[in-house]
Amino acid sequence: MIQLYIPLNFLGVIYREIKQSLADMERLFSLLEQEREIDDTPGAKPLAIHGAEVRFEHVDFSYEKNRQILFDVDFTIAAGATTAVVGHSGSGKSTLGRLLFRFYDVQKGRITIDGQDLRDVTQASLRQAIGIVPQDTVLFNDTIEYNIAYGKPGASKDQIIAAARAASIHDFIVSLPDGYDTMVGERGLKLSGGEKQRVAIARTLLKNPAILIFDEATSALDSRSEQAIQAQLKEIAKDRTTLVIAHRLSTIADAAQILVMDHGRIVERGTHASLLAADGLYAQMWIRQQARKISEDEPSQDDADI
Ligand code: ADP
Ligand code: MG
Repeated sequence: MIQLYIPLNFLGVIYREIKQSLADMERLFSLLEQEREIDDTPGAKPLAIHGAEVRFEHVDFSYEKNRQILFDVDFTIAAGATTAVVGHSGSGKSTLGRLLFRFYDVQKGRITIDGQDLRDVTQASLRQAIGIVPQDTVLFNDTIEYNIAYGKPGASKDQIIAAARAASIHDFIVSLPDGYDTMVGERGLKLSGGEKQRVAIARTLLKNPAILIFDEATSALDSRSEQAIQAQLKEIAKDRTTLVIAHRLSTIADAAQILVMDHGRIVERGTHASLLAADGLYAQMWIRQQARKISEDEPSQDDADI
């Protein structure tokens, strides 16, 4: 059987895959198979983190033969800095996160963290170094405490509570009749999108990874919850190397670097200001989103795919 300490982190990603393919169970199992196909290289060493600079060097990637998804993707996220990725649906944004977490190996080029090729380090140490806050957090059918503690096996109750407080979910939890022992998930208490997201944030805070991946982390929320969570994400991202896959350009305007993807290629890169000045794809997306914001009080589903 699959080891239990890894799945929660990649369940979010798998869940997205399942959603992509209409909740097909066979797909889940084939993904797990695929996952297991990537073995540690003989002699793989634990990842040694010094600041956690992330580099994609001329990466080509395809999930299947004859359909290339990424073309010569080349960028660096400076240690502790934030890089945001934007682009239309299907342009390859989430694939970057999956490759950084090494669900798949690249076909050409390489990905490094502090100069170490992902293929040369143990997967356990790689995944320990990376926290993912996915768009849809999957909770286990277990207590809320278990769902937070998953971020760090063996965490003490005090550490769990501190993480829940920092994620602004502690007060909600203690207001429940069973508190931290409340059963959640499919068969337990149904949490709102915002509450689940806070659980995911608490879990990530507890894990305390050097690298963060936020995949469209707030698109499922109304704008008020989104603003609250954005503030929190920003707080967690401080001093950590962060890859943000963003829907709403307004949330990433202050990123040190923004990459614009189109059909698997980085077609523009820069800061919000420089990209607006360049008057290209990013500027078009920005204008379109601003126009939508003015015409509606609440963001519409259309926002999902820029
Ligand atoms: P984005 O996040 O920008 O919407 P993705 O990185 O998820 O895009 O997907 C990029 C492309 O890769 C899409 O064409 C998508 O259909 C394809 N793709 C994603 N996941 C898989 C997979 N597991 N197997 C085959 N193709 C996939
Ligand atoms: Mg995506």
